[in-house]
Amino acid sequence: MGAYHRVESTRKPEQAVYDDIILAGDGWMRDLESGQVLRIVDLEGNQAADTLFYDADRPEDHYAAAATIARQGNIYLTTGSVLVAESGKELLTIVADTCGRHDTLGGSCSAQSNTVRYAHEKEHMHNCRDTFMLQLAKRGGDYGKRDLAPNINFFMNVPVTSQGGLKFDDGVSSPGAYVELQSHGRTTVLISNCPQLNNPCNAYNPTPIRILIWNE
Ligand SMILES: [Zn+2]
Repeated sequence: MGAYHRVESTRKPEQAVYDDIILAGDGWMRDLESGQVLRIVDLEGNQAADTLFYDADRPEDHYAAAATIARQGNIYLTTGSVLVAESGKELLTIVADTCGRHDTLGGSCSAQSNTVRYAHEKEHMHNCRDTFMLQLAKRGGDYGKRDLAPNINFFMNVPVTSQGGLKFDDGVSSPGAYVELQSHGRTTVLISNCPQLNNPCNAYNPTPIRILIWNE
């Protein structure tokens, strides 16, 4: 299902201009300047970092899963993958990857999907869709529900079966695995560090992720 292109980064954490932890279940939203590099670290392994990107100057132009998949001819992302927006604009390129597989199809968890996949009483659990909405609301401006598009699940393992179905499998990530993306222009990043307690992708144990940013 496409070659994993393992590339380690030479960037040093002590040279980062930003360094913070997102706890499981929490959200994060921030702008990258042109050329800045974002690293997302799966601190304990098997976590899922649900992520969306926007052109910071034209937020209605968000990450486009279908265009990104078509562009690279692969449903999984790894080093060299270019993430494009609905307009076709190149938002970011993955410049390092020590995990190997990042899901583009599974989407984020929601009250509805938790109910359908697991049980009706899961409806009130924390979920990534609500975390996204909370971050967008805190950001203000014109952001709303329509700005929630199919997202990337970094570190999440969603194999496609021979029948064409999707499975949510145990993760392929490991403690300390990371993905690094360089922004082509000013790009807004929206992350929900998945709070899912029902999903084998994070081994039923949601854990923190670390975010670092370098100027280039
Ligand atoms: Zn989630």
